[in-house]
Amino acid sequence: MIENILTIDCEDWYHTRTAQKYLSGKKGVFAEGRISSNVRTLLDLFGSFGARGTFFVLGEVVEKFPELVMRIDKTGHRIGAHGYKHVDVFSMDKQEFESDVSKVTGFINSLVSRPVESFRAPNWSINNDCLWALEILKKYDYKYDSSSPKMLSLLKNTKGDQIIEIPRSGAQFFRLTIPLGGAFLRVYPFGLMMRLMKKINQDGFPFMLYIHPWEIDAGLPLIRTSRIDRVIQYYGIKQNLEKIRRILDAFKFIPVEDFFEKNEVDKNLLNTFYQLG
Ligand SMILES: [Zn+2]
Repeated sequence: MIENILTIDCEDWYHTRTAQKYLSGKKGVFAEGRISSNVRTLLDLFGSFGARGTFFVLGEVVEKFPELVMRIDKTGHRIGAHGYKHVDVFSMDKQEFESDVSKVTGFINSLVSRPVESFRAPNWSINNDCLWALEILKKYDYKYDSSSPKMLSLLKNTKGDQIIEIPRSGAQFFRLTIPLGGAFLRVYPFGLMMRLMKKINQDGFPFMLYIHPWEIDAGLPLIRTSRIDRVIQYYGIKQNLEKIRRILDAFKFIPVEDFFEKNEVDKNLLNTFYQLG
């Protein structure tokens, strides 16, 4: 059975770009830490299927809930970094990004059994204009990055001792390329999503799934948003845990780090990560 990559962007609901648009400056009001119970629910679910993943934790979460991060680590998952603050990398300069990375890396490494090796930028925000970010990640001993907004691999960054860029997985459905995870998992018909993921594995390729703990929270505080933002932040959340359960039942998942330790970085594999389906 093909081993796919499971990734969890570990931020609370109010960190999202969508929520921040409406909450700027008010997030303290909502900072009650719903993330803890949502992560525990996910850990129990993953445990019951023997699925393991990489949890990209936000520095603000690590600082506030160190015991949660230690628990994820002890359960056999890997801890990656999601930045210290949930800020787009392309909006920072080099110094700002380095100080963000240094802070989150230090927090994580003081808590976990194995040093952090993988990074995912908030909102897939390492684009071609800020590839310098990869050099900074390398300086802090990161081996893997999964931050590119394109559903393509950045091959030039996968050679030699360069960081391995793991592209966001997507599947082709007629003219659409559908990313595998996040709001897309909630919005598109589940039967279609399952079919696309199965096709990728049947063709002999792995895929990477990404989810957020707040996306299973049926009691998510409601804020007034535009219609499109309501879809991005809230649509399909009540059904999402069951969807994830069915995915775990049908596919095998391991963390980013295990995947590359086992598979010895086949660059061709990276290149075709997204294209099939
Ligand atoms: Zn995020």
